[in-house]
Amino acid sequence: MIDLTEAKPDLWKEVMGEGEKAGDIRKCYNCATCISGCPAAEGKPPLLIRSLVRKILLGLEEQLVEDETPWSCVSCNKCEEMCPMGVHPFEVGLAIRRWQCRKDQTYLPPSLPEVFAQAHTQSVHKVKDLRKSVGVPEQPPSVVIMPDAMKKFQEMLRATKVVQDNDFVFKGH
Ligand code: SF4
Ligand code: SF4
Repeated sequence: MIDLTEAKPDLWKEVMGEGEKAGDIRKCYNCATCISGCPAAEGKPPLLIRSLVRKILLGLEEQLVEDETPWSCVSCNKCEEMCPMGVHPFEVGLAIRRWQCRKDQTYLPPSLPEVFAQAHTQSVHKVKDLRKSVGVPEQPPSVVIMPDAMKKFQEMLRATKVVQDNDFVFKGH
């Protein structure tokens, strides 16, 4: 049974204030279409956007701030084409990440070491062969293939409090 005694009714406004492209999550009717085909929905724990939307709408702030699954999204955008209600699940995940970081300035996102090392939340070098097999460049066209931009990106991250406070996590990079 869900305990709603600590629920925060306006949580959805707070979280979705971080996701202007996410659409109106109040229209979500939990159909799970966005989960079919989502590679991160097979993860452990699985990324289930519909469950995250429920947490937001029910005002379960504490559960949401501790939920690490939005960080396992691989940005494939599959879910963006699927929602029958015009919600943008990928953008919902991004909104939650932003909200988590703002909510707790000491929050250490689980994928931050990967972000620091390669500017992506997932290990892009692990899927080079797969990318090649489907005819796309081995590396995505992002900051990861631009050494100067990558250096600046890392300098920018090093200047943040969360990286300075947890520098042991970034040793060797
Ligand atoms: S963009 Fe993220 S949430 Fe959407 S299908 Fe891909 S991995 Fe899943
Ligand atoms: S596809 Fe849309 S309506 Fe269905 S669960 Fe996902 S976000 Fe909600």
